[in-house]
Amino acid sequence: MDAIVAGDTAAHEAARPSLGVRAMVVEDEPDLADVISDYLQRRGFDVEISRDGAAAVAAARVQAPDVVVLDLGLPSVDGVEVCRRLRTFSDAYVVMVTARADEVDTLVGLSAGADDYLTKPFSPRELIARIEAMLRRPRRVVAEPEQTPLSAERRIGGLLVDPAGREVHVDGHPIMLTRTEFDVLELLSRRPGMVFSRNQLLGELWGPAWVGDPHVVDVHVGSLRRKLGDSATEGRFIRTVRGVGYRMGTGQDRR
Ligand code: CA
Repeated sequence: MDAIVAGDTAAHEAARPSLGVRAMVVEDEPDLADVISDYLQRRGFDVEISRDGAAAVAAARVQAPDVVVLDLGLPSVDGVEVCRRLRTFSDAYVVMVTARADEVDTLVGLSAGADDYLTKPFSPRELIARIEAMLRRPRRVVAEPEQTPLSAERRIGGLLVDPAGREVHVDGHPIMLTRTEFDVLELLSRRPGMVFSRNQLLGELWGPAWVGDPHVVDVHVGSLRRKLGDSATEGRFIRTVRGVGYRMGTGQDRR
């Protein structure tokens, strides 16, 4: 509770009708999480609370929040890493909350992809004002169609990926993939056009504790491309982003 300005309670305001905006509060201090959540709810947000970094990423995949209030100091996975992982599949607005003002410069330097930063102690009113200002700004990226569930089939050019049945078809023909090849393809196909670094792919596939040569991803991508009917070094479906990693073609890319 020390992060809340005295007397600044949500009880003074009448609850507003739902905005249809999903907010996720990632905060391991239960009292603070409750106060922030209460404020957001009264302003009309639908709110979920997560108290752990890894759990927050998993929950965000299902809940697809529009806004994430993200504490920097969290158990298991810190806020910077949570933000990085969110950015592999989510365009949610992220406000990162830190305990120390002098950390903000460092955080910006880490370019984890947060949209705004707030230092504890802060007023919930200030937080809400920042969030409402962010929501009025157009997103940097081009607006995307309504988010589809991760289990839904994806068609990208001649490629069909069925995450539920773990099946892949190219131009109508079934393709047999190893588990890792399928997982790589499934991950890339969630967001056609979005670049995944080798480390991001490895982190998603084998967890954050994985250590080793990130170029092991290239081996799996090479064999995946061959099975999809492409050369091992470049493909119609999986594009190389030099020096970074890979992205799924959007189906309209030129060779
Ligand atoms: Ca904390």
